[in-house]
Amino acid sequence: MEAIILGAGPCGLTAAWELAKRGVKVTIVEKDNVVGGLCKTVRHGDYRFDLGGHRFISKDEELVKEIKTLLGDSLLRQSRKSSIRFKDRQFDYPINIPNILSQSSARDCFRFTAGYLASALGLYRSKAAEGSFEAWVDKSFGRPLNEYFFKPYTEKLWGISAGELSDEWAGQRISLLNAKDAVLKALSFTKEKPRTYAAHYLYPKLGIGQIFTAMADDIKHMGGKIITGFKPVEFKISDSKIKSVVIENETGEGKILTASRFLSTIPVDELARLLYPETEEKLDYRSLRFLNITLNGIADLSNNTWMYTPEADVIMTRIQEPKRRSHLSAPEGKTSVMLEIPCQYMDKTWTMPDKQLLDIVLAHLKTLGFNLRPYVSEVFSSYAHHAYPILKLGSADHVKSLRKKVAGFANLATAGRQGLFKYIFMDTAMLMGRQWARNILGEPVRRSTIETIHNEAKLLESESMV
Ligand SMILES: Cc1cc2nc3c(=O)[nH]c(=O)nc-3n(C[C@H](O)[C@H](O)[C@H](O)COP(=O)(O)OP(=O)(O)OC[C@H]3O[C@@H](n4cnc5c(N)ncnc54)[C@H](O)[C@@H]3O)c2cc1C
Repeated sequence: MEAIILGAGPCGLTAAWELAKRGVKVTIVEKDNVVGGLCKTVRHGDYRFDLGGHRFISKDEELVKEIKTLLGDSLLRQSRKSSIRFKDRQFDYPINIPNILSQSSARDCFRFTAGYLASALGLYRSKAAEGSFEAWVDKSFGRPLNEYFFKPYTEKLWGISAGELSDEWAGQRISLLNAKDAVLKALSFTKEKPRTYAAHYLYPKLGIGQIFTAMADDIKHMGGKIITGFKPVEFKISDSKIKSVVIENETGEGKILTASRFLSTIPVDELARLLYPETEEKLDYRSLRFLNITLNGIADLSNNTWMYTPEADVIMTRIQEPKRRSHLSAPEGKTSVMLEIPCQYMDKTWTMPDKQLLDIVLAHLKTLGFNLRPYVSEVFSSYAHHAYPILKLGSADHVKSLRKKVAGFANLATAGRQGLFKYIFMDTAMLMGRQWARNILGEPVRRSTIETIHNEAKLLESESMV
């Protein structure tokens, strides 16, 4: 058996790793010049920046063990601390109602508490469409807190109204002591502990990308091939089976690769257009531009792993200080910041020169209480075109029909964040890759089993094994 995998992100690499370990001839085709996908780490002199802050957490004991073995001493076990920076005030994250109330005006305290209780007691009915993210937060935290924190943050991050966004992933991602649980707990009707985020996570010394460069080295060591800088341009098909794929680099140099099994982890709408050139459906992705700034004359920005910045008129959604994850992300005695700035691919924010964006960012950081201008040393940007799949209300059918379209070939599967257009964590993507490999190695699972790995509606982080 020979296998070809499109995309060298966590899903594609883990699939190839599993196959290479079992002696299968595997080739990965990656359009970027490096491996890792959204989990790559960019090196800039003595500094390292991920594409957004990443943490490795998983409930899968076997996967955690394998990553520990792969990285050995290079893997750090870190504690997380996150907060919300709002004007010059700082709130705990996960949201903690007493903490919010202790920093709010008497009027806001009353509004938040009344809104929260009204939701808990079922006295408030959200006006937002059922199944929308806006309605979910109204129900979970009350309308006033939604308007204060969640709605502006969500709309800035996703670029659409919170009422148009599906609540599909809300329960998996947002830790809640929701209003109903809080009231039941206060009245001692429940002893259940609130589900909360993982307090610890694993992180490689050289950035999250080290997991995937180490995996790529291991794949090559076992005889696998990784072709970077190339993407698929055509499939050769016969009898409803993919026979080979034609790949090309930016200069138009081409190759034909033949195999008996194919896994695609590239965006599913792109795959559909390759298989059926008449395909018109396009999915919506939110992009991120990361402004990476090295600082001189300041050793620490804060003790937070990351800070959310929900205000609508602040351009970034999160502030990351890479050395909080690994001390090797910045030289000793120095630090750096990375700002996550949501945008659309090729829009004004995506294309703005670094210097112009830096001026905006520094002004906004100042309103949040960080005057960094005197310390700025160097600045550069990194980009993620397909950072988030925009899951609009009602788009599930559209996604399903695209997935169905590409499912008509017995020896081709699609998986991962882009391949399934799902808002998943890296370990879920890795488990999908591993499951596909085991499937073709003779541990049959239904295709849907791969698609639904970690489909549960409850907070995913709460039982991680690190
Ligand atoms: C800001 C941010 C923070 C995150 N933080 C965390 C975190 O803390 N913990 C966590 O677990 N997860 C986190 N994630 C999610 C994590 O990054 C993804 O779940 C994971 O990268 C998905 O892996 P994947 O292989 O499915 O997709 P990707 O990482 O997107 O990899 C797909 C690969 O396919 C390649 N490709 C695309 N098109 C083509 C083509 N036409 N031809 C060839 N190759 C192609 C891409 O270049 C890429 O290398 C975060 C994501 C973001 C955006």
